[in-house]
Amino acid sequence: SQQAPSKKKPDDQALIGITCPKSEDLSEWYQQVILKGEMLEFTDIPGCYIYQPASYRIWEFIQDYFNERIRKMKVKNCYFPLFITEANLQREKDHIEGFAAEVAWVTEGGKNKLEKRLAVRPTSETAIKKIRSHRDLPLKMNQWNNVVRWEFKHPMPFLRSREFLWQEGHTAHMTEEEAGKEVLEILDHYASIYEDLLAVPVVKGKKTVNEQFPGAHYTTTIEGFIPAVGRGIQAGTSHCLGQHFAKMFDITVEDPNQQIKEGEKREKLHVWQNSWGFTTRSIGIMVLIHGDDKGLVIPPRVAETQVVIVPVGVTAKMAEADKQKLYDEVDNLRQTLEDQGLRVECDYREGYNVGYKFNDWEMKGVPLRLEFGPKDAAKGVVTTSRRDREGKGEIAVSDVAAKVPELLETIQKDMYNKAADEYSSHRKIVREWSDFVPTLNRKNVILVPHCTTGDCEDEIKKDSSGNVEGQEVDVRAPSMGAKSLCIPAEQPEEIQEGQKCVNPKCGKDAVKWVMFGRSY
Ligand code: AMP
Repeated sequence: SQQAPSKKKPDDQALIGITCPKSEDLSEWYQQVILKGEMLEFTDIPGCYIYQPASYRIWEFIQDYFNERIRKMKVKNCYFPLFITEANLQREKDHIEGFAAEVAWVTEGGKNKLEKRLAVRPTSETAIKKIRSHRDLPLKMNQWNNVVRWEFKHPMPFLRSREFLWQEGHTAHMTEEEAGKEVLEILDHYASIYEDLLAVPVVKGKKTVNEQFPGAHYTTTIEGFIPAVGRGIQAGTSHCLGQHFAKMFDITVEDPNQQIKEGEKREKLHVWQNSWGFTTRSIGIMVLIHGDDKGLVIPPRVAETQVVIVPVGVTAKMAEADKQKLYDEVDNLRQTLEDQGLRVECDYREGYNVGYKFNDWEMKGVPLRLEFGPKDAAKGVVTTSRRDREGKGEIAVSDVAAKVPELLETIQKDMYNKAADEYSSHRKIVREWSDFVPTLNRKNVILVPHCTTGDCEDEIKKDSSGNVEGQEVDVRAPSMGAKSLCIPAEQPEEIQEGQKCVNPKCGKDAVKWVMFGRSY
């Protein structure tokens, strides 16, 4: 909370900023950054949080961006109930097996015990309505809502919470081909939310069978990377459910292409379904990647305040008229920038020194600060200070309308490029098992030739857990084992004839280059 501005001497105004360096203790740093950056508040339920305007606004930018794109695909927004009957949730065997451990149940209504308990939706595949005719196809629905997954791993704000916000798309198609095309189209949109809005690089790929969505035919994914810990994170998933749910729920249409004789009935076809989900985890990933020891660093395209103008050089001795003149010029600057469609704040707060104000806006992650004082006015310039790097620059007042939007775009691109360089330099090709754990321990994710089978993955997870006999053990590395993050769509090279799986105990032929890593 801020200090009262009144009688304090400037020295008393030291902002209580982020006190833990990012490199020292990432989770303490993360907590401070999101709390002091006013993104989120804790509640008395672990894993359930209050999203404050600063983070909710980012979510709205994501919603606007994604809605625009899915509307072009003729997807329609709608709303399904929060509760799902146990009977429905259990229909698809793999689905319930995958979610059973995380479902929250409602057992009472008011003073009465419910006859049949109700699940709070962990996702809504099992709620999709029945399709009546092939003329209903393709059916493309999406909802923006909350879901509950009672996670037992340590919850982390945004990244792994028990209640989270997301969109879930549910679609049905006549053919596998059509469904498959949509799965990839959505994955592209997810990737561009990260890359174009949040300035976060991702790797697109397919999940191995071990890691795919419970009940899916196959799962495509985008995988992010948190350089501070060298871990991967699943950033969004687009699933082809195949006909699994359609068979369990008997969702069929009559085959319109079948040649039939008079009186003959058309054959029933099970529809091909997809589902796809993108969550508020994305905000946490963005914070972890871009934030620094001063606090949040928000990419310009999702910053509620893109530019803050701080009047400087205002002294107690200054004549009131001079001060007013300066403030009027600041206001003109604001107007000029707003006319360009930028989101601008001016900090006229009295009784705070500029150092305090600078730190305060830095902690909130505002991408660009403009300083304007009598000296700048005399020179006809504004002083610029980018949040994403040290140092100051200048822009002529007459150029502000053109140069500031340009500078914001440069910041956006530079933030992305920096993160992308970091990700690609920590994505290593590993050919030999002896390099597997040591490379992981150097905070990398790795690409290995792999057989893609589940048993082998389980074995790798066990054998890479950092306490394996005869292996280099980095005492600072988390002891957690590595799992397959994805089979990258862009393979680093072809798998050679006769090339073996990286796991020496496995002995099977390698099928694909698979990205493995420790993960959130
Ligand atoms: P799923 O429906 O299981 O494919 O999940 C969709 C997406 O939700 C995943 O790709 C993750 O990025 C994200 N996600 C999964 N669990 C959580 C969680 N507990 N909190 C926030 N996001 C999550």
